[in-house]
Amino acid sequence: RAKELGGGRVEVFAPHMHADAVRRLELGSDLQRALAEEEFAVEFQPVVELGTSRVTGVEALVRWWRGSEPVPPEEFIGPAEESGLMIPLGDWVLHEACREVARWRADSWDIGLSVNFTARQIAAPRFVESVAAALEETGLPPSALTLEVREEVLVEDAGQNVERLSRLRDLGVRLAIDDFGTGYASLAYLGQLPVDIIKIDPSFVAGLGRDETLTLLTRTIVRLGRDLGLTVVAEGIERPEQLELLREMDCPRGQGFLVARPMAAGRVESLVRTNLRGTPGRIELPLEGS
Ligand code: C2E
Ligand code: MG
Ligand code: MG
Ligand code: MG
Repeated sequence: RAKELGGGRVEVFAPHMHADAVRRLELGSDLQRALAEEEFAVEFQPVVELGTSRVTGVEALVRWWRGSEPVPPEEFIGPAEESGLMIPLGDWVLHEACREVARWRADSWDIGLSVNFTARQIAAPRFVESVAAALEETGLPPSALTLEVREEVLVEDAGQNVERLSRLRDLGVRLAIDDFGTGYASLAYLGQLPVDIIKIDPSFVAGLGRDETLTLLTRTIVRLGRDLGLTVVAEGIERPEQLELLREMDCPRGQGFLVARPMAAGRVESLVRTNLRGTPGRIELPLEGS
């Protein structure tokens, strides 16, 4: 835009942009301290099989307790990437999460783990080796781990990303497209990408039963996933009506505050224990199917 305005002009940053840059810098150095002082934690959000309420897995979600204030991941993941801290932080999250889930599995609980990765994490020099090392060190079998990436990661400048993710997939690791339907992944790509799971973005699920188009689109994604042999997970289930419609659509899996919130590892264990319904690993859902 500065160019369009012609020669002789200098692009000037607005004061709020400057403040923003300063804030990001400050956040960057604070993140370094936070990592050293162990202010980060991993929470786990259960994912269930909608037909049976069985907990098939958990999604690891990083938490930053800055002082005693939680900082949302959306606020610190960008700065963490810019300051190069996302690589050690992501590695820490992966190890913590693998260790926890490997422990559950050793207790003969058949449960999987999903971990989120950004494009920059995947582009890191030793990405493939570091994931393989985490599996090796914690004893989690590769087939119990799913990497969640957003559509952009697979489409924009995707050559190297896809190749790296394919190498992990060859080891048995699964791949999920997160926030499906909001990015650039055209349907044509879907058949060619090394993908196992699509996670329907909450913006579709939010409209279930309230918005005809969003309901139709959700139904179409569920069917598309099924026809392509992919596992579909609906994200952001908050209302019983959404759960009911997803079950009626035969959506295989779901996740959301109505099912269970993200929580500390110990709470996942007690939730599952106190909700035993004859079969281990089930949690009680509203509108339990007959
Ligand atoms: P995501 O991977 O799509 O994770 C789902 C987000 O939706 C989580 O937010 C979760 O707390 C929230 N959520 C789950 N169920 C519901 C619901 O029913 N309603 C609503 N309103 N929200 C729900 P969170 O933990 O704030 O994470 C936000 C994003 O930050 C994640 O989106 C993911 O992209 C990123 N993120 C979180 N942890 C990590 C991590 O360890 N590594 C990386 N690279 N990214 C992470
Ligand atoms: Mg995710
Ligand atoms: Mg998501
Ligand atoms: Mg998201």
